[in-house]
Amino acid sequence: MDLRYGEAYDRLREEVRDFARRSWPPRGDEARLDEREQQIRFRRRAIEAGYLSRSVPAECGGGGRAVDVLAETVIRQELIAADVPWRSPSPQGTDMLVPTLLEEGTPEQCRRYIPPTLVGEMIWCQGYSEPGSGSDLGSLQSRAELDGDHWVLNGQKIWTSSAREADMMFGLFRTEAEPRSRGLSYLLIDMRTPGIEVRPLTMMTGGIDFCEVWFDDVRIPAESMVGRRGEGWKVSKATLKHERMLIGDASYLERAFEDLLRLARETRRDGRPAIEHADVRQRLAEIEGFVATQTWASHRMLSAIAADRDMTVINEMMMAKLSLTNTMERIAELSLDLLAEGGLTAPTTDEGGMRQGWRTPGKWVSNYMMSLGLSIAGGTSNIQRNLIGERILGLPRDLRP
Ligand SMILES: Cc1cc2nc3c(=O)[nH]c(=O)nc-3n(C[C@H](O)[C@H](O)[C@H](O)COP(=O)(O)OP(=O)(O)OC[C@H]3O[C@@H](n4cnc5c(N)ncnc54)[C@H](O)[C@@H]3O)c2cc1C
Repeated sequence: MDLRYGEAYDRLREEVRDFARRSWPPRGDEARLDEREQQIRFRRRAIEAGYLSRSVPAECGGGGRAVDVLAETVIRQELIAADVPWRSPSPQGTDMLVPTLLEEGTPEQCRRYIPPTLVGEMIWCQGYSEPGSGSDLGSLQSRAELDGDHWVLNGQKIWTSSAREADMMFGLFRTEAEPRSRGLSYLLIDMRTPGIEVRPLTMMTGGIDFCEVWFDDVRIPAESMVGRRGEGWKVSKATLKHERMLIGDASYLERAFEDLLRLARETRRDGRPAIEHADVRQRLAEIEGFVATQTWASHRMLSAIAADRDMTVINEMMMAKLSLTNTMERIAELSLDLLAEGGLTAPTTDEGGMRQGWRTPGKWVSNYMMSLGLSIAGGTSNIQRNLIGERILGLPRDLRP
């Protein structure tokens, strides 16, 4: 493993730093625009400069550059450090839908949906889970039936993040008589279509992000399907190939740990900084071990990918999510113990406290609640453990329903 990036990447790092300094926060007339418009403009400039959506083809509104994971890592590190709005307002759109369309969509679908998604003008939600179909997604029941040149949708989705703000949904619907995942198709749905009802669900943070989405004879054009009839399962997995671009990023965990250290230094217990107590130091040392493991594992995956050995990191990728969510939970638990009764009354936010300063108790309480959600979202920790046990360790297959 070679941890040096090399001269060309060091130069790129300087260029990105300079770009971030010049481009954010907005100045002049732009400073008077609303925040969303400011962010759209920032993202557009960053894409033109080749710093965001770098390898998305130019005709789809991206940077049109060759895939270079080291460059993308350097750029992401600098944009995170500069605290600019690099993260898409619609991660479901940029991280899930765009790679899927690039892999499986028609040229027309790519041209129509990708450019506004990349800059943040088009917001997406993901309609997969249903009551009774989460981990066992293949059992989902919402149906789409072809009627002339329209699909007619009926059924219900649940836990749909961002459904209230979303312009569009990509979702899985049962279109074929085949059982389980073989009967599903992947559809793109305009959220303003008559017959769609979005019912918000209040989260335990008090915020509203999740929704139930009901479909009652919703008619969408036949060309709204991505891929072929009955191949929705395969289409939804196309994203996985591109997820390798998102790995190697232990920076969120590293920042959370730094904040935790500061909290332990500032919080006083029995008249002394909490960090001076042996039990706190012990827990911090354990957590630091897990954070370091994540950091080194991500360097190793990055080295393998940069050397075109992508397929060798699939196992590590499977473990990375589980280890990340476990470590986030440990960080969140220790922070609440440090805050003691202060943590009971702190106001929470629905953003997992990410944008609050580390001194704000509410940040830690929200992070704690979010850490529980992270161990469920996108595949629960139990399911990850099954996959690791069966596919990596070769343990006997678990019982299936
Ligand atoms: C923050 C957050 C955001 C989400 N956003 C979206 C979204 O935008 N769109 C969307 O479609 N969905 C979304 N979800 C839903 C998420 O995908 C599901 O909650 C998840 O897949 C689990 O499904 P479930 O809730 O039905 O739980 P279940 O599948 O019913 O699981 C319940 C419990 O049983 C365990 N379990 C289930 N099967 C097994 C097994 N075979 N072996 C061992 N244990 C098992 C699980 O680990 C879990 O502990 C989101 C969830 C969260 C928490």
